[in-house]
Amino acid sequence: MGKHLLELKNLQYSYGNIKVVHGIDLYVDEGEIVTIIGANGAGKTTTLQTVSGLTAPSGVKGEILFDGRNIGRTRGHLIAGQGLVQVLEGRHVFSKLTVAENIQMGTYIRKDKANINKDIDHVYEMFPRLYERRTQLAGTLSGGEQQMLAIGRALLCNPRMILLDEPSLGLAPIIIKEIFESIVRINKQGTSVLFVEQNSKIALNVADRGYVMQNGEIILHDTSVNLLQNEEVKKAYLGE
Ligand code: ATP
Repeated sequence: MGKHLLELKNLQYSYGNIKVVHGIDLYVDEGEIVTIIGANGAGKTTTLQTVSGLTAPSGVKGEILFDGRNIGRTRGHLIAGQGLVQVLEGRHVFSKLTVAENIQMGTYIRKDKANINKDIDHVYEMFPRLYERRTQLAGTLSGGEQQMLAIGRALLCNPRMILLDEPSLGLAPIIIKEIFESIVRINKQGTSVLFVEQNSKIALNVADRGYVMQNGEIILHDTSVNLLQNEEVKKAYLGE
């Protein structure tokens, strides 16, 4: 087995004196979809934001290796330049800009300007609804369309791996299905995925492997197939 694309070793995070991530180990291999599930306040979002450089570097301890390089104290935009990109929640689109302008914003870190138009076309192929609405202000899109726009914008950074925080949050079941289908398609085209979800059932049905987080610790990790059959997981997280 080669080296992992992303690896967290004894990762800890504290907001001031309050430690909320207590030394977790986790990895994602090239081509995988991995999820972190767990209850409210377990530390999932903090973990994800620490990986993508959105939390304060002073609160981080332990190692975050991306493609073998320690990125533990690297700021977000620099991490994105290395191919690890967090999809910000849909409501963080630029609401006063059009869909097309938002998409264009996704290309700002690119050096290979020649391929940008081709990649923009690719995003519109993936999300035809964004193409139909390209002149509409992003703030007037539905929640699901905003989430698509956020994903599309992240894709324009040409990521090797994308990170998503609760892609299902606040969306109707049919839209959730659409969003996850697009995540699977993106993965099949070669982008690895790490996402955090409270909706454990959907998460484990999409991911190859899952980590269960509780009170800042990983209490269990396994293939999704095994986690879906695990009695403890069924009772605590799948409502069975
Ligand atoms: P949720 O799904 O509810 O967002 P989560 O598993 O993602 O939960 P986090 O959002 O990472 O959990 O929160 C973990 C803990 O860290 C919580 O106790 C939360 O109150 C605390 N926390 C989060 N952000 C801050 C902050 N900026 N300052 C202080 N404490 C914080």
